[in-house]
Amino acid sequence: MKITAVKSILTCPQRNYIFVKIETDQGVYGWGEASLNWSEFEVMTRLEQISPLLIGQDPTRIQDLWHYLYARTYWMGGSISMAAIAGVDMALWDILGKRAGLPVYQLLGGKSREGVVVYNHAIGSTFEETAEQVAAFVDRGYKVVRVQVGEYGGVGNRPQSYAGERAGGSAYLEPTEYFHAGAYIENVPKLFQYLRDQFGMELELFHDVHGKLTPIQAARLAKNLEPYRLMFLEDPLRPEHRESFRLLRQHTTTPLGMGEIMQSKFDLLPLFQEQLIDYYRLPPVHSGGISEAMKIAALAEPYDIRSAFHGPDDIGPVAQAAAVHVSRAIHNFGVLEWADYNTATHEVVSGISTPRDGLAYPQELPGLGIDVNEGLAAQFPYTRVPTPMVRRIDGTMHVY
Ligand SMILES: [Mg+2]
Repeated sequence: MKITAVKSILTCPQRNYIFVKIETDQGVYGWGEASLNWSEFEVMTRLEQISPLLIGQDPTRIQDLWHYLYARTYWMGGSISMAAIAGVDMALWDILGKRAGLPVYQLLGGKSREGVVVYNHAIGSTFEETAEQVAAFVDRGYKVVRVQVGEYGGVGNRPQSYAGERAGGSAYLEPTEYFHAGAYIENVPKLFQYLRDQFGMELELFHDVHGKLTPIQAARLAKNLEPYRLMFLEDPLRPEHRESFRLLRQHTTTPLGMGEIMQSKFDLLPLFQEQLIDYYRLPPVHSGGISEAMKIAALAEPYDIRSAFHGPDDIGPVAQAAAVHVSRAIHNFGVLEWADYNTATHEVVSGISTPRDGLAYPQELPGLGIDVNEGLAAQFPYTRVPTPMVRRIDGTMHVY
């Protein structure tokens, strides 16, 4: 079996997704995904560069091809390379599954569980609105919910005392949330008190800080959240603040989840070795694919650190399918972030799984169990999607 073509498709039925199709001389083809929000053109260019290297190669030599693509670029690693390699890697696993007549999770060692627990986001503008959304997810069978007041914990309109700083309110081009660390640190435990009063202690709840706090602020928040038994506190610090994870860990028993904007096992390994986190977030699509996701899980397993793969809707359904297969197979699975896709995405990609009772299941088909309609994908060209920016209340740009 030989690779005859590698095609990359940039399509925006909902968000911008990059799908990679690898074709072979035996008619079997595979799909992968290399989506990387805000770096779509860079990833497409990298795929254009590496695709000719794959022509004529044996697609079943997944391990060797992974390292070939990784080493070949010389400037190894980085988010763009890892996404591009992930797209290729997933497609090769899809081909292998089709050739073997088995779902990919079977090739990864078989199922460690039937369904994988998924979570979704409750983001109200008030405690009451957030609670209503939590209740709706619980009604749908969700067992884990991420809870926020405002996606980034913003205070909405700027306090009046700052209004004169930039006359006429926001002059920025993109939607802007304003963040007041002091108010935020006081507010989040109150949100959890409100939700625990309503839903009890059993429901798994957690919260995403989006890396907006200083180390000592993060320590204070994590400590104050201890009575509310979070499943984990997500991204309490920026990944660059690696030294500060020790400080944070020493101050709290709130479990910590980290790493959605990290890029490889090399970023996560020191956090594993020192047991500074409890859940890792780096998903297959941003870490080099299924092959690398299996290695990262193996590195985390001896420390009882579990997966919580990043999976918002700027990651598409092919990558989601790959994450479900990996999550079903690995022993140290924790939870999987879930994105619901719109009708257009369901039309472009077939085989998207729908969670039942808060659990997602892979398709019981050879390979990843998904297919992409190329003609339809071409009808949804790249679209610039504005994403909210976060500023401190005095107008200073926030890092995240
Ligand atoms: Mg996050």
